[in-house]
Amino acid sequence: MQNTNELNADLVVILGTGGTIAGTAQDAADNVGYRAAQLGVLELVRAIPPLAQRRLETEQIAQLDSKDMDFATWRKLVLRVSEHLARPEVMGVVITHGTDTLEETAYFLQRVLAPTKPVVLTAAMRPATALQTDGPQNLLDAVNVAADAQARGVLIVFSGAVHSAEQLRKVHSYRVDAFASADGARAAVVEEGRVRWLSQLATSRTPFGLGVLNRPLQTWPRVQILMNHVGADGSVVEALLSQGVDGLVVAGTGNGSLSLPLEAALRAAQAQGVAVLRSTRCDAGPVTESDQALPSAGALSPVKARVELLLTLLAAN
Ligand code: ASP
Repeated sequence: MQNTNELNADLVVILGTGGTIAGTAQDAADNVGYRAAQLGVLELVRAIPPLAQRRLETEQIAQLDSKDMDFATWRKLVLRVSEHLARPEVMGVVITHGTDTLEETAYFLQRVLAPTKPVVLTAAMRPATALQTDGPQNLLDAVNVAADAQARGVLIVFSGAVHSAEQLRKVHSYRVDAFASADGARAAVVEEGRVRWLSQLATSRTPFGLGVLNRPLQTWPRVQILMNHVGADGSVVEALLSQGVDGLVVAGTGNGSLSLPLEAALRAAQAQGVAVLRSTRCDAGPVTESDQALPSAGALSPVKARVELLLTLLAAN
């Protein structure tokens, strides 16, 4: 993959997938009663005058509410991102997305590609028709980050902040400032189009690579998430086993702790060949490794641990 500073690399490719950023409502005062994924990515770009000064290309990859994101769209998206990044004239890729599963798509792209050029996801909490829509500023900021010389890897630009795919979490269901980096580890802020880096971007782990996606979609592993809570027993695990499951991520309490019956059920699943990862239902912090306990997902949130396990199982087959 080419270097960010490649000569003449001045093109930013914007890929549209839908979401509230492309949503419309009947009433401009209505911030919640809208339909996501109504406007094409080119319309979104045309609504932002400063973007006329940039060399841009747009492409509609999907048009969906990200609560319905699926493996087929993920595969199509990651392949197109990879193809665009391989073009010498491309300095970065921006992806417009819904906020609901943004962190899963971002983590998936990072772990498959670990790109050296920037791949910047952005979104909006309010539809394009809202009195104070947040989408245009977020998209403009995302393009500025994609064109920044220090940017690399999968980043998320939202509400003036830049997050890494590993740290990002959606933390609010309604507020415009809906995302945060776990443990306060924001990568940068965008101020009047300028990117001010706050921390060094972590070195990427070896990516899984596109090869793991070759398996037919209908044979991709089934990885489910369950939770420890007061009175948790093993019945959910047993129900999933009876339906057929390849991997289980448990969102444990605190440092990944599990009730006795839930732990026993998960160990029985593991003994039957089901891969198990233990994460935490806390908003931040790792699950520490222990030889006595089920495998830890480290500092990954349950949804990202599920992506990691999915890719691990795909790579193993
Ligand atoms: N349900 C929407 C989506 O994820 C929410 C949003 O984009 O803010 O597509």
